[in-house]
Amino acid sequence: MKLRTSILASIGALLASSLLINGAALAADAYPNKPITLVVPFAAGGPTDAVARLVAIPMGKNLGQTVIVENTVGAGGTIAATRVARSPADGYMVLIHHMGMATAPALYKKLPFDPMTDFEYIGQVVDVPMVLLGRKNFPPNNFKELEAYIKANKEKVTLANAGPGAVSQLCGLLFMSREGVELTTVPYKGTGPALTDLLGGQVDLLCDQTTQTVPYIKDGLVKTYGVTTPKRLSALPNIPTLDEQGLKGFDVKVWHGMYVSKGTPPAVLSKINKALNAALNDPEVKARLAESNIEMVPASKATPAGLKSHLEAEINKWGPVIRKAGAYAD
Ligand code: ASP
Repeated sequence: MKLRTSILASIGALLASSLLINGAALAADAYPNKPITLVVPFAAGGPTDAVARLVAIPMGKNLGQTVIVENTVGAGGTIAATRVARSPADGYMVLIHHMGMATAPALYKKLPFDPMTDFEYIGQVVDVPMVLLGRKNFPPNNFKELEAYIKANKEKVTLANAGPGAVSQLCGLLFMSREGVELTTVPYKGTGPALTDLLGGQVDLLCDQTTQTVPYIKDGLVKTYGVTTPKRLSALPNIPTLDEQGLKGFDVKVWHGMYVSKGTPPAVLSKINKALNAALNDPEVKARLAESNIEMVPASKATPAGLKSHLEAEINKWGPVIRKAGAYAD
């Protein structure tokens, strides 16, 4: 009798697990049957937000569902990453994040997620150079004058960023360490609001991606002291690099990736990846990216394996640098 009960229990368990597997396969087949949320870890109107909104519409078209962009801001993007890591593994909540995903493990003493074990990877998105900007009425007119001005005025000079772990913060840290000065840093919830304050003259300096800044630079609404990549940018050919103006080897370029929570079925991952690649190859998206000097990544990187290996390499690259600098967030 006992044996019969346990055989029945095993058959029951087997049936239940096969129902679960079939259920998951059916759900993956039906995916997506409701809108998808694309979580942006910084404020609306900033560069990460702009890239997200650019790809959301063509991705939605490819998936046959609306992709809704939602800004979950704060703590250098870690609140958004935690939210997606803890979301159901069904592909309805997708995270777009930049290289902050690789710097967070070293920057934050208690990180509520592990970038290498709590996510499935969709693919790399785009690479974006940065520019060092000043408010329009900031006295220094060029990089040499800027260097002299910050040496004379030090912490009276304000430098905006998007909080600990943001690339604007890393770019600012690198700039201050190369110049050997400590400026007063002003954290925002994204470089969207930081740029608004720079345009309004409330802060002196900001290092930000080209995504949103090129039109303001071209219209002379900000002062531009240099680009952060070793080569000049085709969208801003007259702006010298920081490297050529004396900061040899200064090289900051912002990469982006898309993630979903661990355990999302492979069939769902591949549908989201297909939609991402369709969006990146959309002629209108390509033209908009080129205007801001945003670079497409090679097709091999816009893949789950491409993003995972790049993320791992970046964690290994930034971890020792951040630990050595002792730059921790709370
Ligand atoms: N680009 C910003 C940063 O400094 C964040 C943002 O997209 O607003 O990380």
